[in-house]
Amino acid sequence: MIKNTPPSTSYQRILNSARFLLLCSSLLLAACDPASVQISVSDGDRAATVDTIKANRQVASQVDLADQQDFEDARRGLIASPEHLQIPSLTDPTKNVWDMPAYGFVEGDAPDTVNPSLWRQTKLNNIHGLFEVTPGIYQLRGFDLSNMTLMKGEAGWIVVDTMTSKETARYAFDFAMQHLAERYPNTTNISSILFTHSHIDHFGGVLGLVSQQEIAEQNIAIIAPSGFMEEATSENVLAGVAMSRRAVYMYGKNLARDEFGHVDSGLGKGPAFGEVSIIEPNQLVSGTPTHLNIDGVEFQFQYTPDSEAPAEFTFYLPQYHAFAGAEVVSRNMHNLYTLRGAKIRDALKWSGYIEQSRNLFASADVYFGSHHWPIWGQERIQTFLKQQRDTYKYIHDQSVRHMNQGMTPGEIAEHITLPASLATVFSNREYYGTVKHNVRAVYQAYLGWYDANPAHLDPLPDPQRATAYVELAGGSEKMLEQAQAAFNQGRYRWAAELLNHLVFAEPSNIAARTLLARTYDQLGYQAESGPWRDVYLTAALELREGTPDSGIEMAALKDLFLQTPLANFFDSMAVRLQAEYAADKNWQIKIHFTDLDASHLLWLENSVLHHRLLDDTAPLTEKVHATLNLTHPLFIDMLIGEAGAKEMLLSDDLSIDGSKIDLLRFFSLFEKPVANFGIVLPN
Ligand SMILES: [Zn+2]
Repeated sequence: MIKNTPPSTSYQRILNSARFLLLCSSLLLAACDPASVQISVSDGDRAATVDTIKANRQVASQVDLADQQDFEDARRGLIASPEHLQIPSLTDPTKNVWDMPAYGFVEGDAPDTVNPSLWRQTKLNNIHGLFEVTPGIYQLRGFDLSNMTLMKGEAGWIVVDTMTSKETARYAFDFAMQHLAERYPNTTNISSILFTHSHIDHFGGVLGLVSQQEIAEQNIAIIAPSGFMEEATSENVLAGVAMSRRAVYMYGKNLARDEFGHVDSGLGKGPAFGEVSIIEPNQLVSGTPTHLNIDGVEFQFQYTPDSEAPAEFTFYLPQYHAFAGAEVVSRNMHNLYTLRGAKIRDALKWSGYIEQSRNLFASADVYFGSHHWPIWGQERIQTFLKQQRDTYKYIHDQSVRHMNQGMTPGEIAEHITLPASLATVFSNREYYGTVKHNVRAVYQAYLGWYDANPAHLDPLPDPQRATAYVELAGGSEKMLEQAQAAFNQGRYRWAAELLNHLVFAEPSNIAARTLLARTYDQLGYQAESGPWRDVYLTAALELREGTPDSGIEMAALKDLFLQTPLANFFDSMAVRLQAEYAADKNWQIKIHFTDLDASHLLWLENSVLHHRLLDDTAPLTEKVHATLNLTHPLFIDMLIGEAGAKEMLLSDDLSIDGSKIDLLRFFSLFEKPVANFGIVLPN
């Protein structure tokens, strides 16, 4: 009998829940929450398959693993390396935010479970310590994902980039002072700090080095590219929760450090998950060239907005013949799109800036960056810059070319490979970004998410599609058989497609989850990109162990939030509004910050939250339901969940004019974001 009408959604729901209950009882699970199912796993389950070993051997034959130039560069100028580099957390000293001994297993030839080209980068990023770039310029590498560069100024140290966390920044700087004391006795103070760009791994540690008070008292220059503050704070406030959850995948935060787990991020070992901070710059660079004398050292800046970061600069130091490329260039292919989720980067502008710096700073005898190790010699620097320039331009131009032939993002991703002159160069290899996902970024930049195929315009959502596909396959057992066959043939991408449907249709199907985890293992082992490996292996981990109970602690970002413009917080409140309960609730609430002596009006209209600053030019004319008087830090605590709205309203540190009830009802309209949403398992 042919069914002409699809089952009603309620019928479908009953069917699904019946199936789910059946599964749970048949598996005799103690807890029926699919997210909490634990699947035991042995190393044998996780071993590399013959197909993976074959694929990795092929990579080894494509790159010159015997080439030692990068290792020589990465070790050159070593002054000292900490023997046992572990940096404890400020909030919980029993935990380390940085742990280099954990990577002690990275030795010898690549194990079967790691792409040999990535293994090589892993070894390079393991080289850590204090290095002399050229007399007067020093770098701390391997104390965090990013580098800290120190330059001797007349009055003190000029610090370029302050790493991700207060813990790592402080530790690294102290280590440098300890080992530079002989060369520069009595100089341990900081005269200037430069943030090369608005990404957190380049400013987050700043308050570990200096306090607000020291900056004011000692006139410390804080120099950043124009737009820095806005970009640095907005990226992490509005979409921060989703990005943090996705970053757990991208950086393999929850993975073991071993040959089955996280080995490297390509760009460095990984970010330090410590306390982060920010400081408002007191000097901005907004044009090319900008000449500045910073504590007796001549700087020539190149302003490179909308490149690797929305606000960024590079600079040249004529007295040292040194070019600091920030992160515009690095010793891997970078991301036009980053898997944690971010706005697309402009490949054409990015490539153009590299050509500009190549010409502007052609007399550079040494290059150093915000990640990885330096390059010495004019000719080598020029070659490196040309190769980096053309990697992004090639991806851009060829993506657009094929886009204009009518190819879709997936087709272009499958089709484009770099020419041999670029592909065989280590500093262009896909350790961080990949051609495949960067190609999709170029497509997205011009044409957006829709590939013009109407079947993709309004497809069924994943769980519904999954259930329909499982039915089409003839049920879950048949689907699993097909997936197992694909796995046995080494067709892991197809196996993942099938099993992903099956897991979304039946999240408690242990056999499906196990095989999908094993499939992701193999995809991870074959990946040259650190983030791709971490994404696949984190997926495998969560399929086996369930979605983690907790996400990133927003409290670690408190210092950052305290420096974030208040308007961003009201915007972030607006994106937490449970609009379904806000219809007709046209409330107006005044928030008076007692410490800032500033007032803002918040009002609801059409289920949307608005805000405006109240001052002489825009005084309050509306009737307000309530006024909340509190300090700025208290307000931040409330927003990041350090204190619940009820506790706050009962606290002595704030007062309320007008209706307490209205105020409570107003705040109850805002939800707490879910920091640990499901990714490979349905929510
Ligand atoms: Zn960075």
